[in-house]
Amino acid sequence: MIELEDFRDQGKCGPYYAETGKDHWFGPREDSLDAYDNITSTRERLNARRRDRDKAKALCAICPVKALCLQWAMENREPAGIWGGLDVAERTRLKNQMAARAAMESSERIAS
Ligand code: SF4
Repeated sequence: MIELEDFRDQGKCGPYYAETGKDHWFGPREDSLDAYDNITSTRERLNARRRDRDKAKALCAICPVKALCLQWAMENREPAGIWGGLDVAERTRLKNQMAARAAMESSERIAS
């Protein structure tokens, strides 16, 4: 079992947050635009949220502890934020794909 302390200090997100004060990983909830109240146009708010999430994912993509981070989030069923480059919906899809694959492999073993 991976612990947060095993990787957190080596991630790209910490230094970025320390430098900019912007938490694009846990920023606005995925179904909310509340953090962008200062932007009046809904389209611009959506674009701003997308840019922030893309920035987080771009840093995750080059993060040296990406795999550990994603594994931790999966093991702990982390319900929010971007971890290892994946948001909640993407982690849910990955979990479902892994479960389906495990079930298929299990049925193949039983059949053989
Ligand atoms: S993969 Fe992303 S969220 Fe995880 S430690 Fe690295 S930068 Fe942070």
